[in-house]
Amino acid sequence: MNKSIKFLDLSLQNQNQKKAFHKNLEQVVEKGDFIFGSSLKKFEEKIADYCSCKYALGLNSGTDALILTMKTFGIGKGDEVISVANSFIATIGAIVARGAKPVFVDVGDDYLIDADKIEEKITDKTKAILPVHLYGRVADMNKINKIAKKNNLKVIEDACQAIGSEYHNKKAGSLADAACFSLHPSKLLGVLGDGGFLTTNNKEISEKINKLRNHGLKNRDEADFFGVNSRLDTFQAGIALGKLNYLEKWIELRRKNELLYYEKLRSLPIQFPPEQKKGNRTNNYLFVIQLDKRDKLQEFLNQQGIDARVHYPIPIHLQKAAKYLGYKIGSLPETEKQAKKMLSLPIHQDLKKSEILRIADSINKFYKN
Ligand SMILES: *Cc1c(COP(=O)(O)O)cnc(C)c1O
Repeated sequence: MNKSIKFLDLSLQNQNQKKAFHKNLEQVVEKGDFIFGSSLKKFEEKIADYCSCKYALGLNSGTDALILTMKTFGIGKGDEVISVANSFIATIGAIVARGAKPVFVDVGDDYLIDADKIEEKITDKTKAILPVHLYGRVADMNKINKIAKKNNLKVIEDACQAIGSEYHNKKAGSLADAACFSLHPSKLLGVLGDGGFLTTNNKEISEKINKLRNHGLKNRDEADFFGVNSRLDTFQAGIALGKLNYLEKWIELRRKNELLYYEKLRSLPIQFPPEQKKGNRTNNYLFVIQLDKRDKLQEFLNQQGIDARVHYPIPIHLQKAAKYLGYKIGSLPETEKQAKKMLSLPIHQDLKKSEILRIADSINKFYKN
């Protein structure tokens, strides 16, 4: 029996960095600067620079980044936010956490929000558009920003899956009023627990979120407004700072894996993600193909010890949690069609070439039988 191939191997990924992790922990313990310590400041500077943004602020999670950004834009009860049903549940959960109503737009064949279908969903209650850069592919931000400008809406990038991705040669995170990132261990830049951050070029937003994440305090004793506790720990910031040095290499390795898949699977009746347009780059957070016998292939691969997964099998508008919004099967035809056909193949940076070849072999075998 072949060794199993994991979808993501966090243990392996972190092995060669253990020493750096220990050193980071020692430093934090030595200094005692657990909250708002020096690594946080350094990380914020470096990640802002990496994302070509003026400001970055470390937060508790990607979800908090979304919630606090919407709060900063004054989005709350009675407001509507336009987004997609093909995403991790947190995108929509964040809108609901603000007391606002999520409004879903269908996706295109690139898995991303269909910008041509946004305007018909805008009402006088719409406050923002929240496109998701799903699987690391960046949404059509020029079109989206144009629509937003015309209708006086904010645009927030859900860039939780898109660190390092690019659109028209510009980094995800620098393409809207603000962008939200996750440092969850499963993400490309993952820490040893929960974490997230926000990027923006807007000083006012940055200053507001800086207070908001720290109880609304402008100094030790004076609060300008009521806020929350949503800070990125110094220790976790140090982890992210160290891993950031590897990020570009990891994206390159994932790109190699992607190309190898194309080469080995090209002749099969499989739908690949559309080619990236010139100037665009995906970080290959996930590699998602579409095919008719998805469930059968997934089962076949799982039997061979290959962990292929589905992101996401139940579109958010059809979740029990979303029932009150009144969507039905058929409301978002493309999203629903894709949910039945999509399959995520392992693509992480620690895969060996031989493992990709084994996965491709198995898929070829599946089609021969
Ligand atoms: C992971 C993720 C989130 C949530 O990030 P957390 O850090 O886990 O809170 C939000 N949106 C998308 C698209 C994600 O992939």
